[in-house]
Amino acid sequence: MYFTLLLMIFSTVFRWQIAFYICLVCFVLCYFRIFSKNIYKRGYENDKFLCAKGKILDAFRRAFGKKNNNSDGYRSHCNCYKGKVYDAEYKVFKCPECKQKLRVPRGKGRIQITCKRCGNEFIKKT
Ligand SMILES: [Zn+2]
Repeated sequence: MYFTLLLMIFSTVFRWQIAFYICLVCFVLCYFRIFSKNIYKRGYENDKFLCAKGKILDAFRRAFGKKNNNSDGYRSHCNCYKGKVYDAEYKVFKCPECKQKLRVPRGKGRIQITCKRCGNEFIKKT
C-alpha cells in the first residue's frame, strides 16, 4: 500500500503514465481486499505476505547484522514451514485438572496433550 502511494507520487511528479496505471490496478486490488468478505482467505494472504516480509528481513539481518551475533537465535514469527504456509488453525482444549486453556494444531488425529500449567497428560482428538 505504501509502495503504491510512493509510486503514485513518482508517477505524478515525472508524468509517468505506465506507473500511474500500475498504481490504479494496485489500488483497485487493495480496495477489493479491504471490502472482501472472505476473511479466512485474506488472513491466509496476510500470512503469506508476513512470511515473505520475514524472509526478506531475515536475509537483511544475515547480510548486515553480523555485529549483533544473534542471527542464530533469531526466528521470524510467521507460520512458514519449508517455504509453505500451513493452515494456522488450532483447537482449544481445557485441561481437566486445572481448566487451563491449551491450544493444539488441528488435524493431527489422536494426540497426547500435556498441560503446560500442571503437567497433566490427556488424550484428545484434533
Ligand atoms: Zn492443567
